[in-house]
Amino acid sequence: MQSITILGATGSIGESTLDVIARHPDKYSVFALTGNTQIQKLATQCLLHRAQFAIVNDAAAASQLRELLLATGCKTEVLHGIEALCQVSSAVQVDTVMAAIVGAAGLVPTLAAVKAGKKILLANKESLVMAGGLFMQAVKASGSVLLPIDSEHNAIFQCLPANYEQAALSGVSKLLLSASGGPFRGWSLGQMAAVTPDQACAHPNWSMGRKISVDSASLMNKGLELIEACWLFNMHASQIEVVVHPQSVIHSLVQYTDGSVLAQLGNPDMRTPIAHALAWPDRIESGVADLNLFEIARLDFEQPDIKSFPCLQLAFDAAAAAGDAPAILNAANEVAVQAFLDERISFTQIAEVVDNTLSGLDYSEPDGLDAVQESDLKARYHSANYIAEIES
Ligand code: NAD
Ligand code: MG
Repeated sequence: MQSITILGATGSIGESTLDVIARHPDKYSVFALTGNTQIQKLATQCLLHRAQFAIVNDAAAASQLRELLLATGCKTEVLHGIEALCQVSSAVQVDTVMAAIVGAAGLVPTLAAVKAGKKILLANKESLVMAGGLFMQAVKASGSVLLPIDSEHNAIFQCLPANYEQAALSGVSKLLLSASGGPFRGWSLGQMAAVTPDQACAHPNWSMGRKISVDSASLMNKGLELIEACWLFNMHASQIEVVVHPQSVIHSLVQYTDGSVLAQLGNPDMRTPIAHALAWPDRIESGVADLNLFEIARLDFEQPDIKSFPCLQLAFDAAAAAGDAPAILNAANEVAVQAFLDERISFTQIAEVVDNTLSGLDYSEPDGLDAVQESDLKARYHSANYIAEIES
């Protein structure tokens, strides 16, 4: 029996994880569930999945949740705050932590799980983008098993040989990172200037939270994933190529020196990578329908359009600059995406904010978590000021 903590249980990945877990009550039990604002949903999840602990961010949300649980007779213990998040990520009773908080907020609890040597199912790509060096060092030191949930990285993981830490030595020449192209594939910058948050969040193939949906529309998501892949698979950015594949059936590919290219295919449903990582190295049923190649009929491929999607180039640049540049990129993007979702800036201004922040700050080599968080704060401050300038 694997005992699991789900960080970000109320989100899209959290819900898909609970869906898979519920199909295998003999294999998985829930230790803790965490959420931020959707307290009613969290209460329902606690009741349904008999969580031992539920964690929210503040005291007011905690008392609201306690009241809801009390009314149903549910025995879940409610705690709040970052220390509680770290406690349920590192508790001795926990085997596996699903890291599915969105954004920089996921870094500290995920790192706590890594340091405690837990099996980590990593959806929160932002934590690797911000602090990849530190994160991977901690994985090595604790002996934690790190399994990627991002569909592309999970696909690559499935196509790599077992000793993938030395991908170059095992004959791997290149990683091919699939991208759907998002809802605005084929559009010009001018056409994208006036799109609404709902248009940006209407992804053609995947159903996801709003932040990652906007990132998918701007292709920043692919940029973050490139940086994520470098850390996960110990590859240089020059060994990774982005391939736009609008059907989202091939989730990514690995090219070997002998000319072989291995790919992982499946319907675009996150329950496949979640089930893969939960059961690895075994396989379990996920609830995902079988792939029907006759219905799909064709698979298309294109080069990414860097001119219309400048966020992808900005991420390449941050990856090349290394140091704290990816943390700055990530923080500026989070602030800009929120401002776009709040209708304070336009969709195309997201790239402007990130560009202005990346070029307006000096980079350094972070020597620890405090330094990473300082870079994150500095970038948030700079982007917020720039957004205020745009607005005035
Ligand atoms: P979501 O917005 O649906 O859910 C986010 C979760 O994080 C919620 O449970 C929310 O309560 C919690 N949260 C948000 N802010 C928080 C804070 N400040 N403190 C504590 N908890 C907080 O997002 P999602 O689509 O489930 O994505 C989660 C992560 O997984 C992201 O990093 C995303 O990039 C990654 N991911 C998602 C998908 C997908 O298909 N949804 C695919 C690949 C990777
Ligand atoms: Mg992905």
